[in-house]
Amino acid sequence: MLEMKLFLVILLSLTSISTGFAQSGSDRVRSKIEFIKRNVDFGFRRFYQVKIIDTDEANAFSLGTLTLVSQKMLDILDDNELLAVIAHEMAHREKYHIFSRSGMIVGGAIAALLDWHSDIPYSERLSGFNEDYQLEQELQADCYAYNWLLQLKKKGFAFEPADLNRATTKIFGIDFGDVDPTYFEDNPAYIRFQKVKQGHSKSCEN
Ligand SMILES: [Zn+2]
Repeated sequence: MLEMKLFLVILLSLTSISTGFAQSGSDRVRSKIEFIKRNVDFGFRRFYQVKIIDTDEANAFSLGTLTLVSQKMLDILDDNELLAVIAHEMAHREKYHIFSRSGMIVGGAIAALLDWHSDIPYSERLSGFNEDYQLEQELQADCYAYNWLLQLKKKGFAFEPADLNRATTKIFGIDFGDVDPTYFEDNPAYIRFQKVKQGHSKSCEN
């Protein structure tokens, strides 16, 4: 249901006319994409589109060539945190994690259907697949973003992998470095936070 609501918001935003305010937001995002392309050694794709969506939820999505960022995200993140989030979304794009947020339902449903021999009820399998599949892609996108930020840092720019976790702390309103692991060990955001803290490996391929 939430996914559907989100999907409708995205659809509506795609058909809406950009305001001047939204335009300056997309310029801010675009400049981050260009900065990363210019300064990180990686064979980035040339074509990137940016759209700002007007929700009060701090979120960003990658829909193939299109990177969507919510206005709320732009409001709460500083330039370092925003660049970290953009790097993460660019990794989704580069790794063909199409519909990497809202579209997870589709990917998970297909995977769950293929596993029809299982005795576990379909709905349970569906949610399990969605979570695993989504977390796997999120961790891979984090891994690329981590290494790109590390590259920028080594080149003397004022960016670092920890910017990813600073962004997470603001987006979720929780400092995952300072919570009781007992309650959070299954939480995808917590798992991602800890992985960034420990350090991702140089290779992000499995
Ligand atoms: Zn992601």
